[in-house]
Amino acid sequence: MKTNLKVKSSQKKCLLKKMISWRRIFQVAFGVGLFLVIQYGYLGLGTVVVAGSVLGIFLGKFFCRWMCPMGLVMDLMVGADQPDAGGRSGASLYMYYKLGCPIAWISGLLNGLSLFRVRKSQDDCVNCGKCDSACYVTANNHATSFFEEGKINPSETYTCSRCLACIDACPTGALSFGVLGCKITRAETISTMQDKS
Ligand code: SF4
Ligand code: SF4
Repeated sequence: MKTNLKVKSSQKKCLLKKMISWRRIFQVAFGVGLFLVIQYGYLGLGTVVVAGSVLGIFLGKFFCRWMCPMGLVMDLMVGADQPDAGGRSGASLYMYYKLGCPIAWISGLLNGLSLFRVRKSQDDCVNCGKCDSACYVTANNHATSFFEEGKINPSETYTCSRCLACIDACPTGALSFGVLGCKITRAETISTMQDKS
C-alpha cells in the first residue's frame, strides 16, 4: 500500500509543493524589495511591524521565513543547519525563530490560531516520520511531533516559521496548509491499487 501511495505522490507535483520549492525566490524578492522601500523611506519600520503582525492572523509566522530581509540574512547564515536525516540539528534556526523580533513574537503567538495552518489528515498518514525529520522544531523540542501520539503539533508552537518543509517531506499528501494541499484521497489510492491489480 505504501508503494502505491509514493508512486502516486511523486507523479503529482502540486501547486503547494511548487510554491515551497520556490520559497527562496519569494524570500529574496520580498526581502530585498522590503529592504529597499524601507531604506528609501517609502515605508516606515512601524508600518512593516504592524503589517507583518496582522499577516500573522492569516498565516502565522509566515513573514519571517518568506518576506523578511533579516530573516533572509539569518536563513542564509544558519540555513545549512537544517535537521539532518536523524533530525538532530537545526538548533541555530530554532533559536533564531524563537528570539526573532516584534513581528516574530506576535505572529508566533498567532501560530496556533492563524487561518492558514499546517493540518494533518489522519486517514492519509502512514506514520513514516518524514515530516518530523524535516522540521527543526521537532528536532529541538521533543514534546512536539506530527505523528507521535500525545505530542504537540509543531506547526502550532511559537517557533514554527512556516517553512513548510514538513509538507514537502510528506510522501502521502497527508499535510496541507490552509486550503492548499497535495491531498491523495482514499478513493484515488484504492483506484490506483485496483488499476494495478
Ligand atoms: S512549517 Fe513544518 S517543518 Fe517548518 S517549522 Fe513549521 S512544523 Fe516545522
Ligand atoms: S504526516 Fe506524512 S510524513 Fe508525517 S508521518 Fe504522516 S505520512 Fe509520514
